[in-house]
This record gives sequence, C-alpha cells and structure tokens, in this order.
Amino acid sequence: MSVVTRFAPSPTGHLHIGGARTALFSWLHARQHGGRFVLRVEDTDRERSEAIYVEAILEGMAWLGLGHDEGPYFQTQRFDRYRAVLEQLLASGHAYPCYCSRERLAALREAQQARGEKPRYDGYCRDREQTAGSEGDPPVIRFRTPREGSITVHDLIRGEIVFDNAELDDLIIARSDGTPTYNFTVVIDDTDMGITHVVRGDDHINNTPRQMHICQALAHAPPAYAHVPMILGADGKRLSKRHGAVSVLQYREEGYLPEALINYLARLGWSHGDEEIFDRDALLAHFRLTAVHKAPSSFNPDKLLWLNQHYIKTLPATRVAAELAWQMDRRQIDVREGPTLEAVVEAYRERAKTLAEMAEGSRFFYADPAEYDPKALRKHLVGAEAVLDALTEQLTAAQWTRPALHEAVEAVATALTLKLGKVAQPLRVALTGTSVSPPIDVSLELVGREATLRRIARARELAAGLAA
Ligand code: GLU
Repeated sequence: MSVVTRFAPSPTGHLHIGGARTALFSWLHARQHGGRFVLRVEDTDRERSEAIYVEAILEGMAWLGLGHDEGPYFQTQRFDRYRAVLEQLLASGHAYPCYCSRERLAALREAQQARGEKPRYDGYCRDREQTAGSEGDPPVIRFRTPREGSITVHDLIRGEIVFDNAELDDLIIARSDGTPTYNFTVVIDDTDMGITHVVRGDDHINNTPRQMHICQALAHAPPAYAHVPMILGADGKRLSKRHGAVSVLQYREEGYLPEALINYLARLGWSHGDEEIFDRDALLAHFRLTAVHKAPSSFNPDKLLWLNQHYIKTLPATRVAAELAWQMDRRQIDVREGPTLEAVVEAYRERAKTLAEMAEGSRFFYADPAEYDPKALRKHLVGAEAVLDALTEQLTAAQWTRPALHEAVEAVATALTLKLGKVAQPLRVALTGTSVSPPIDVSLELVGREATLRRIARARELAAGLAA
C-alpha cells in the first residue's frame, strides 16, 4: 500500500514552528516512501478561520519547500459529504440524536464534579425512542461509542496507548445547527483521502481513540498514528509568542533561510548520531518517524541562528541571492543597477548572521548615502580633503579589481604618510555615510567606479563645510 500523509492545519492563526515541524515530518515520511502528501485546510470553525491565515499557511509551506501533491482541500467545501456520512451513521445506529437541554447537561456536569468524577455525557438519549423535534430544540448528533472493552493506539512515536472505552463518552459529531465537529470530519477526510499515516501534535492524542471508533463504525481500518511531542520555550513552558518569533514567515522576515529552519526543525525532537547538519537529501536518507523522541523538545534560538549562518556561508550564492532579493525588495532597494546579488552574497556571507543584516548592510551598494552619521563625519572627515583628493586621483585611474583597489588605497596612505585607517575611514564614510562596511576593497568593488567618485566628491564638499 503506498503511503499517504497529510498536514491539516486550522486557519485560525499563522503557520508556527510547531505546525511547520509536524508538516515537515509528515512530508518527509511521504517523500521517503514515494508516497503522496495531502494538504487539508480544516476551516470548519468559521468564526475563527480567516482567509489571510490560509494564505499565510500556504505561503509558509511554499517557502519551506514542503510542496503538497494533493489539495489544498477545504473542509467547508465538503459539508455535503459529511452530511451524507452522518445520515449513514444514523441509519446504521452508530449515531443518535440527543435532545438533552443545556440545563440538563450543566446539572449533570455539576453532579459529576461534586462526586469527583470526570464530566462526561451519561448516555441519556442513547437508547431512548425519539422522534425529531420531540423535545423542542433541534438535536445534536452523538456517536455511539462502545461501552465495553478498550481500544489501543499503536503510536509510531509513543508506542502502545490503551484507552478504556468506558472512559470515552458519546461525543457530539454534529451540532444542533447541523455542522459537523472536528473528530467526525477528520475521520471522513482521512478515510476519503486514503491517508495511511496521521502525523500530528500530541495535543490530539485523546481524540485518537474516538476517531478510531468512528473509523471502525464506517468499516475502515484506521490509519497509523504518530503523535509528535510539543515544543517548549527555554523556560520549560509551551512555545508561544512570549518566546519571540513563532510564525514561520516571521523567520523569513528576520532573514532566516528555509534550509536553516528545516534543518533546525528536523533536529528538534529527532536525532541521528551526533550530526547537526542535515540538508534535504540527508533528511530524506536518514529521518525516521519512529525515531522521533517521545519527550518534548526545547526551542533554542541560538542554534537556529548558528544553522542560519552555516547555510548563508555554504549554500550556492545564487540560492542565497534569491532569498536576499526578497529582503531587498521588502526594503524597496532597487537592485537593477549596481552589483549582482550573487556578488553581494560572496562579499558578505562570512559576516552576516541573517539575510536581514546582509540586506541592511548592502543598501549602500545600490544607493548613495541618504544621510551621514554626524559622529562619523566629525571623526573622519574633518581635515580629510587631501585624502579625498588623492583617493579621487588614484581611483579614477585604478583597475576595478579587489587587489588593484586595495593597492590604490595603500598608495594614498603611503603618499600622504598616513596609516591605512586614516585613508580607509574617510573613504568608508564617503561610501556609506557611516564608519562601518565590509572590507574597503570589497566595498569599492561593489559600489563601482562611477558611484564611488560621485560619493567622494560629495564627501569632499561635506569635509570643506566642516572645516569652515
Ligand atoms: N486541524 C487540527 C489542528 O490544527 C489538526 C488535526 C489533525 O491533524 O488531525 O490542530
């Protein structure tokens, strides 16, 4: 039987780190087995579901490179199908209408709690003869859960988990307005879509026995399950916004490469020897769903940053440049004139921890300084006219290669008997408006001759003004 996995997010928020890891594990399992990966949007909670989140989830998945083979399916487009199955379960006696009023259920719950029992439906309507509308309000539909025996989840990560059927009450599978509930829709979808492996967060583990019972009532063998443990922040609490960025797209904005995030997420709760670096091929070769750790894992932003640096340094420049292009675009830095982004990546990749940092630091390759840091002006441009004049002369004639540019700057220092810094710093201020930039030869090379000479001329004017 070929493997079919799925990722089934509810569009009630952004694609966060935990969801992305679940999606990755599910995707990897499908890809490793030559199977299919289905994307299903669980949008039945109409109040909390929003189109912008659907967009954001799709964008996040695409950015991470977790392509789906089928879907996205939307549950809200499958209501007819859910209704048909509901009818089928009612007809076969696996489901029944429940007319219990809110008041009765509230009183029941109170009495159970007073006795120290777990609140659960007592099956009042389970075996009563009823006709539609017999007690006023339209009924909810409940699933007739077997009362005897137990059910065992053979979880690929957690092992066997046995649930006593007596512990599971008759869950509501359709509300009184006719809308189906999560535990019901998920089973119909998983069976209709031929899902063989359900990979999801372990917050769903208590739903699993209920879903397995519904599966059995529909004469389907349940899929295999793998419940992924949760992710904790450094403080041991469940990862949330309090811990900083949690949305995948926010990591993109902050200048992370998807390669780094994928590598990081894979290692979060899974390991293979002492290896830290896993590109996609290595993951496809070594990842095993059954080797995912049982215990929750802690999110470590420093390690993610370290991996990001690793990939900025080692991926092909064209690949990093593609992501840098997105950063430049967001900053409205026009890169059509000036150095290629590949050249920028080559120049910067040893120094930048994120692509946001690289993009910020690269502004000056494409635009003359819009403003000058006043401190840098005072420190490096006062009295720098002679240096700037000599630079103009040398750089007008220099060959525009890194070694030749380095020599030209050195020649100015030698001619004026100055330390190299006394030449490089005024030049840096001229080029960037600040006193920091990549090495001066690299900066010159990327800014280009014409813009360099124009900026030196502007700095010369500023220097004259400062001296006066
Ligand atoms: N839509 C559910 C969620 O976002 C996932 C359900 C499932 O994977 O079975 O938590």
